[in-house]
Amino acid sequence: MNFEAKHNEASALVAQMTVEEKAQLTSGKDFWHLAGCERLDIAPVMVTDGPHGLRKQDTGADHVGLHKSVPATCFPTACGLAATWDESLLARVGEALGEQCVAENVTVLLGPGMNIKRHPLCGRNFEYFSEDPLLTGKMAAALVRGVQAQGVGTSLKHFAVNNQEFGRMYVDAIVDERTLRELYLYGFEIAIKESQPWTVMCAYNRVNGLYCSEHQWLLNDVLREQWGFNGLVMTDWGAANDRPFGVASGLDLEMPASGEMNDRRVLQAVQTGALSEHDLDRSVTRNVCLNLWGKELLARDIVADHVRHHTLAREVAEASMVLLKNEDGALPFAAEQSLAVIGAFAEKPRYQGSGSSQVNPTQLDTALQSLQSTMGDTLISYAPGYDPDRSEPDSGLIEQAVGVAQQADQVVIFAGLPSIYESEGFDRPHMNLPEQHNQLIEAVCAVHSRVVVVLFNGGPVSMPWVDKPQAILEGYLAGQAGGSAVAQLLLGKRNPCGKLAETFPLTQDHVAADTWFPGNSRRVEYREGLYVGYRYFDSADQAVLFPFGHGLSYTSFSYSALNVTADRETCQVTVSVTNSGEVAGAEVVQVYTSQPEASMYQPQQALKGFKKVMLQPGETQEVVFVLDRRAFACWDIEAQDWVVEAGERVIRVGASSRDIRLTQMIDIASDDSLSNLAQIQGPQIVDGADQGVSCSDATFQAMLGRTLPPLEPIRPFHMNTALVELEQTWLGRQVKQRVAAEFQRNMGAENLEDPTLSKMFEEMANQIPLRGLALFSRGKFTFRNLAILIALLNGRVFRALRIFAGAPYAWDERNLK
Ligand code: BGC
Repeated sequence: MNFEAKHNEASALVAQMTVEEKAQLTSGKDFWHLAGCERLDIAPVMVTDGPHGLRKQDTGADHVGLHKSVPATCFPTACGLAATWDESLLARVGEALGEQCVAENVTVLLGPGMNIKRHPLCGRNFEYFSEDPLLTGKMAAALVRGVQAQGVGTSLKHFAVNNQEFGRMYVDAIVDERTLRELYLYGFEIAIKESQPWTVMCAYNRVNGLYCSEHQWLLNDVLREQWGFNGLVMTDWGAANDRPFGVASGLDLEMPASGEMNDRRVLQAVQTGALSEHDLDRSVTRNVCLNLWGKELLARDIVADHVRHHTLAREVAEASMVLLKNEDGALPFAAEQSLAVIGAFAEKPRYQGSGSSQVNPTQLDTALQSLQSTMGDTLISYAPGYDPDRSEPDSGLIEQAVGVAQQADQVVIFAGLPSIYESEGFDRPHMNLPEQHNQLIEAVCAVHSRVVVVLFNGGPVSMPWVDKPQAILEGYLAGQAGGSAVAQLLLGKRNPCGKLAETFPLTQDHVAADTWFPGNSRRVEYREGLYVGYRYFDSADQAVLFPFGHGLSYTSFSYSALNVTADRETCQVTVSVTNSGEVAGAEVVQVYTSQPEASMYQPQQALKGFKKVMLQPGETQEVVFVLDRRAFACWDIEAQDWVVEAGERVIRVGASSRDIRLTQMIDIASDDSLSNLAQIQGPQIVDGADQGVSCSDATFQAMLGRTLPPLEPIRPFHMNTALVELEQTWLGRQVKQRVAAEFQRNMGAENLEDPTLSKMFEEMANQIPLRGLALFSRGKFTFRNLAILIALLNGRVFRALRIFAGAPYAWDERNLK
């Protein structure tokens, strides 16, 4: 189904509208609905989160998962979905999500989230797929195809470069264009071209100085003209900055409703000629297209099959878990021997993340119950080992767990990150597990030799005890059926086949971006360039805890007969993979390329293809990859194009980025020549034990092709000053306190009992830009009020009085003398 198919009908309707009516369509009607037009019988449609389950709120509305939503299947979050490396499975998840949208009359599912995991500490990494753009793009495209096959739209988010929660509503991400094109935009490009999503959601932050909600280059030049996107771009919730400028720059829909404040500004801009009616029509037509699609949806009457979807959620969870380590065949467990189940997560699993993606599951499987029902009660003993709501160790609980473990033949410990450790709204301060989880694992491993650890967490964690248990299973945030999925894997009813879609570093300061993450003074510099994830670790030959692409199985696979042929357009890679073990299993075959003699700086290797194959014991399959020219190209900033440098490439085929089984050298022919600019030196890998990356101002400026702008002063205060920045003055502190409390009240978030939610709210209130106060108040606190407040905060009392008395004011008062 094609979004564009409604274009003619929509244009005809827009032609009948007044400018006022059109302006009203550029923002939502409320929190979750687009605006409609009653006079022309255009009904407003609903959009809602996303991404790994439906979060349709029937009563109270918010964008952080505060108010309840209707029951829906909670699939594994994106970190787990990506670990399946299975496009057909993701398409099936998409189909189920789409079916639930149709049943609930939701026209667009707000997802998938597909920002690159630049640093393992980004609080929202659990909602993103990978550190690699190819894997990200392919996973997103598959999910989108599945959802949209049901006649429901998707929204790729957050476009673009939203790789941290700190300062997410105003931070300026300074990134060079090559890194953008090859890393941060590439996944979006794949998903746009391969799945034609109906909508894209712009990010809150700025990229190279401009808010994404008014980024002409990102939205019109790259997304639409170069990639051929023909759908609608909406804001993230509250991301609209200067709205008329946004319309002119290709941002079609502001969400949620802002009490018509911005509609009036759009109208005025058209009336004064600052915004062309043509640009307005373009955006309005896209909004009407979406409303027209929604109308067709309403005509369908289906009931979602929650039972079938739960079974699918289990299948996906099984495929998403990654067997990190398995010494002496510790797993699968012997079903006839006694098993001590330790850790409160066995009973109260952590299975999804907090924030806007939080789903109200239709049911919830626990590992404890599932193990009991499969093995029988008598073989299973249980001890919680820790209080899941606290971080400090409880020696009584640990002692009790040690006692229970000693009585059993084999032990499994469930550990991981409680929700307060990772959430939308704030980044993680470190990679550690709660101390009580570490101590519990150490204590049990000290008395038992047959221990398996299962982790529930949304991103890499440190494992100071990694050598002690015999096996480690990374369960990620496995959704509502994660508990039963884990039992199936532990007992060998299913064979693990997930592979890491991200590197687990030994420590956070080994991450190349660590020096510049999450930035300060309102900006974050991406000086590490392309050195993200394995692209850095492999280039620096840095030891890691577990590498990108890693994942074990209860069987083993051998690789043979690599054959690579290339002509000027394509390169064909053929390899045979054999299941050399005793049980059926699936292997993810990965193809990386490297360019030993490159004129441009190049990471040591990059993923160019992957395929998941299911093999019976003894079975061999030939796996074929066809790589196009783009697989060998770099972005040349001077040529503004992809260029292929002629010369040798190594094709590396393996089971992980660090387990390359076969390699072959080939010659790539090309007539392209690289510009001088393209050949500039990139960030330098520092030699030595601690390694890391250095990138001087001069190098970074050469990469950027411009001088670095000066750091932004915090004062004078302005529309985009974050609430927390007001704390610099006495008056600012008073205002901040009152406004933060009011914001919380407005969102219905007073007296929160859940500590994660209150932490999220506190952080969000701190980081909200002043313009957000007006937008989230939906007109109660007008832009005029805000201009008065800003003038006062800047000590300009007379200016404030003049605006109060009706003098004209600039939208961003800072600039007014
Ligand atoms: C999140 C989006 C989400 C939106 C609506 C925002 O805070 O960043 O991912 O779709 O809220 O809930």
